[in-house]
Amino acid sequence: MDFEPWWLIFLPLLFGLGWIAARVDIRQMLSETRTLPNSYFKGLNFLLNEEPDRAIDAFVEVAKLDPETTELHFALGSLFRRRGEMERAIRVHQSLLSRADLAQIDRENAQHELAQDFLKAGMLDRAEQAFEQVLDTRFAVPAVRALIRIYESEHDWPRAIEAVKRLRALVDEPVPQLVHYQCERAVAAMTSKPPDIQAAEGALDAADNAAASLRGQARGQASEARIAMLRAHLARINNKQERERSYLVSVLSIAPEYASLVAADILESYRRAGQETEGLQLLRNHYMRYPSLDTFNVVFRELRAQEGYKPAWTFAREALRAHPSLLGLDRLLEAELASGQTGATKEALAAPVGDNVAPGSAIVPATGAADIVAGADLSLLRSLIHKHTQRLDRYACNVCGFEARNFYWQCPGCNSWETYEPRRLEEIK
Ligand SMILES: [Zn+2]
Repeated sequence: MDFEPWWLIFLPLLFGLGWIAARVDIRQMLSETRTLPNSYFKGLNFLLNEEPDRAIDAFVEVAKLDPETTELHFALGSLFRRRGEMERAIRVHQSLLSRADLAQIDRENAQHELAQDFLKAGMLDRAEQAFEQVLDTRFAVPAVRALIRIYESEHDWPRAIEAVKRLRALVDEPVPQLVHYQCERAVAAMTSKPPDIQAAEGALDAADNAAASLRGQARGQASEARIAMLRAHLARINNKQERERSYLVSVLSIAPEYASLVAADILESYRRAGQETEGLQLLRNHYMRYPSLDTFNVVFRELRAQEGYKPAWTFAREALRAHPSLLGLDRLLEAELASGQTGATKEALAAPVGDNVAPGSAIVPATGAADIVAGADLSLLRSLIHKHTQRLDRYACNVCGFEARNFYWQCPGCNSWETYEPRRLEEIK
């Protein structure tokens, strides 16, 4: 490119213009800064020094001097909420909403902020109303998500399901707990008096549809197991014994580790059909592949009832040897003490544990260390063990650690779904 003489004029002109523009900017900034009250900078300073209490005081001062500053009110409101000062947060956002001159976009924002204040304050009714008012604004997605949580905590399953549909229309987002909402609807229909069979069937069909999208995931397995259990329950209400049993047994293949939740029911349904021997065999085989404490307990008790204490104790010794468990021993002693044949138990406990002890084999007389057990007071032994096992005989949420004696599909502590394993604390290692 050749040098053009007119550049000599053009370049300085350009620099001159830039200099003037910069000066104008600086002047404007300075004039704006002069109009900002000192408290504003004090507040900023406190915030930077992580002194939110003093920052809030300074900002409140600014807000009093200049009530028009909406941005500052929003900042204050969210600061209050974050610090758990819900009353103050609500007041700030309500005062914003009461302004007649507030721009529509700020009004929607204030409404959404207020809804979050109510939610955090636990005022669910008011939070629900406030979120509903922003459903047609740019806050629709977070509002629907919040509404789902609110309906869920109120156990309002039909509305939770509606809200999930609404969310799906807005964004392509998986909602795995939808299966459980439908299951809860089914439970409500089955436990109403009289049971609403049709509603329960409809809810379970819908649950199946929701579960179809989860197929192939670990989470899907658990959901399907729950649906099968509920279908079994429904079949029982309808007096369809065969169906009940086939649904219960299907759990063993859908989600084998959930056998612990259905083992007793499976045995019971076989017993009603006069086939308890087959039921016992099925559970025993399942236990060999998927050992769990509750299945062990059911198999041991049934073996004892059907074949007597020797085969039962042989099974128990082998099982406890493969999976040492204090809880298992505790349940065993409980069953024995309840049967009132403690003499036989002492003999069984005293027998050495061998690899080749087959069910029904003769029990070898007690020797050595086993003598201590043979002479022991079984109820004392049990009470000692029981003291320790009480802590272990619980289910625990793997999100918040909440422990419970019953199995829950939704944690009562943190409201998460499927966070309980179908295993006791002692078995989770
Ligand atoms: Zn939890």
